[in-house]
Amino acid sequence: MPLRSKIIARGVGKAYQSRQGMLLALRDFDLEVGEGEFVCLIGPSGCGKSTFLRILAGLYEKSAGEITVHKSSADKPRNSMVFQEYAIFPWRTVLDNVAFGLKMRGLSRRDRYEIADRYIRKVGLAKFRGSYPYQLSGGMKQRVSIARAFANDPEVLLMDEPFGALDAQTRVVLQEELLRIWEEDKKTVVYVTHSIEEAIMLGDRVAVMTAHPGTNKEEFKVGFPRPRSLHIKGAAEFAELSLRIWECLEQEVKRAMEST
Ligand code: ADP
Repeated sequence: MPLRSKIIARGVGKAYQSRQGMLLALRDFDLEVGEGEFVCLIGPSGCGKSTFLRILAGLYEKSAGEITVHKSSADKPRNSMVFQEYAIFPWRTVLDNVAFGLKMRGLSRRDRYEIADRYIRKVGLAKFRGSYPYQLSGGMKQRVSIARAFANDPEVLLMDEPFGALDAQTRVVLQEELLRIWEEDKKTVVYVTHSIEEAIMLGDRVAVMTAHPGTNKEEFKVGFPRPRSLHIKGAAEFAELSLRIWECLEQEVKRAMEST
């Protein structure tokens, strides 16, 4: 059954004004994401992935195109974003960081702490609810960001290489945690990554972008059943799909390298 569209982006373009003149970062980019779908965006460095995500988040203005995000409720925030760098408040505890968005939405103290606590437990930080970010490892800080993003219950969740700064082992553990939490909530997610493996592991679909200025190159459906675990990495289909995506991406990565 086709999914109801949650995000429809058509012909999106972005030009930045720089000292050298206008820089076209994104051109004529289309993306459609179904309700509850997990879509990964992959492309060479500098192709405009973050730019597109920030436009979706409303942080940047687009220069061209149309974006529609269908709202399911007037109360829900349009989106929550998880960045690679730990965007949590150093002066707030884990609990207050996770509850922050709910406070902004005017929920009572009791409700916001109850919801925040639920997500803190889901990311395994129950013992650290009263800790401050400086007392946490990088992986734990990123768990706080993820808990906060889900606790906010946004229409869409936008993730910009959330595990990009973590070591490989922590990254794998957090990927599995993210999958587990997502299986329960089935949020609509747009997830930017550099890693083909991560894109296949997490996504329902992988959208490959061209080198700068980025636009659509090709899309791949990821057919592995859910709930998924890391074990799918051992499947022959996993290796086969990785190779197909790499073959699509390789030319763009080389083009991006030549132009820098
Ligand atoms: P990606 O996330 O795919 O690595 P980005 O969206 O970060 O790509 O960047 C796309 C292009 O836009 C790059 O050439 C980058 O230098 C440029 N760019 C990104 N943000 C800005 C900005 N705020 N001002 C000017 N140029 C920018």
